[in-house]
Amino acid sequence: MAVLDPAPAPSAGDGPLRVAVIGAGPAGFYTAGALFKQDDVDVRVDMFNRLPTPYGLVREGVAPDHESIKAVTRVFDRTGDDDRFRFFGNVSIGGDLSVQELQAYYHMLVYAVGAQSDRRLGIPGEDLAGSHPATIFVGWYNGHPDFADLDFDLSHQRAIVIGNGNVAVDVARILVRSVDELAATDMADHAVTALQNSRVREVVMLGRRGPAQASFTSAELKEFGQLAGVEVSVAAEQLELDDTSQALIDEERRVRRNLEILADFAGRERTGANRTIELRFLASPVEILGTDGQVTGLRIERNRLETGADGYQRAVGTGEFETLDCGLVLRSVGYRGVAIPGVPFCERRGIIPNEQGRVTDGPGGSVRPGEYVVGWIKRGPSGIIGTNKPDAVETVGHMLQDAGNLDREAVDPDPEAVVACLRERGIRFVSYEDWKRIDAEERARGEPHGRPRSKIVRIEDMLGVCQR
Ligand code: NAP
Repeated sequence: MAVLDPAPAPSAGDGPLRVAVIGAGPAGFYTAGALFKQDDVDVRVDMFNRLPTPYGLVREGVAPDHESIKAVTRVFDRTGDDDRFRFFGNVSIGGDLSVQELQAYYHMLVYAVGAQSDRRLGIPGEDLAGSHPATIFVGWYNGHPDFADLDFDLSHQRAIVIGNGNVAVDVARILVRSVDELAATDMADHAVTALQNSRVREVVMLGRRGPAQASFTSAELKEFGQLAGVEVSVAAEQLELDDTSQALIDEERRVRRNLEILADFAGRERTGANRTIELRFLASPVEILGTDGQVTGLRIERNRLETGADGYQRAVGTGEFETLDCGLVLRSVGYRGVAIPGVPFCERRGIIPNEQGRVTDGPGGSVRPGEYVVGWIKRGPSGIIGTNKPDAVETVGHMLQDAGNLDREAVDPDPEAVVACLRERGIRFVSYEDWKRIDAEERARGEPHGRPRSKIVRIEDMLGVCQR
């Protein structure tokens, strides 16, 4: 397969290497940062982002009560302030500007668009009112403009969260956490108000496999047990492990720690707190039940684990069923990538096919010169924010190897050409200075209330702040 031969880096006479990074989340910023850190090639980076605001899931995904994780934006701002960097927020690639058009202005494109959709369960009732992907609930409480106008029915006592990852843990915690505490965070104002009026008191978090197979991390799990006014429970018999699961405890510190924390939860005295989180394992949703189009319950099947030849322990139904009443179901079974028009896409994995960051025509296909990929759209929705750093470094390494083989004639050398094109089309793009105005305004709105910021959640309002 045709991987480009390593070639000498281009000489200064070629002019700077012009790179477009599409997506302003952690993967995009780590890519720009890695390009600026190397000395061999003179690089200019233009970053395009569909929303006016940068930082991707650090702004729209990280839970509002995990403020310290957001400190990573300081690293991204160092890149944002670099003279070699320009930000074009509020520009949709594949919408306002096609990938083919972008290729006229840049030697290299890097897709850093993340995973913007969610996986489906494929069970009856999934689309009833009151059944939502957790990813949308997360976007809603974090003030993502796409979801700011949604309503979640929080009028029922019990909510069920399906999934055992960190997103499931986040949404379960947010549903029962004290609103006074949430009101001191940067949670979107509309979500604080809705949660103030919430009648949800019981959250059941459902894992299809056992506690040793859960993908949540220990610090996140432990936090359940520290929430004021919340009782966390798990039945002791749910923590009995088969031999293969027991072996996982010995192999992986995280699993061992998780089981210790769960054992602590199982042994706790009942406090009578009026908000609860119950963890249930080895249960799969089989149907979301409803009346008049609205969720009323969830039918689940008990599972047992079966170990395959590859050692993977999968959940197998036992034929025993149970129905749990609830008014809200949040399906937290993973994010999924979305195709960009004109760019290859692997439907099976929900990623852009690639070889260590070089985009290919399809899985195992030929490399497409000048097109690269980083982050979740490269490897799938896994890992923490920092995982995207080595991931970006790998892709950047290949970009630098390929830099000498580019057809530089094919690209308009004038950096203002893309700006003129956006202006001609009437696209109101947001620069990094503009973003800083939005940022300052949000902080100023939050400050009198002791909050880190009060988020602006409508794009028109963001653009209004930029124009002042
Ligand atoms: P995840 O860790 O992949 O969890 C997905 C969960 O969905 C798994 O428990 C999976 O179970 C379950 N699942 C999948 N299909 C299912 C089905 N048909 N029925 C029932 N359950 C099903 O993904 P995530 O929670 O969306 O998180 C994405 C990434 O972001 C992760 O790497 C996560 O650690 C990271 N993240 C980190 C933080 C943090 O650091 N605080 C916060 C949020 C997210 P199986 O294991 O059985 O497949």
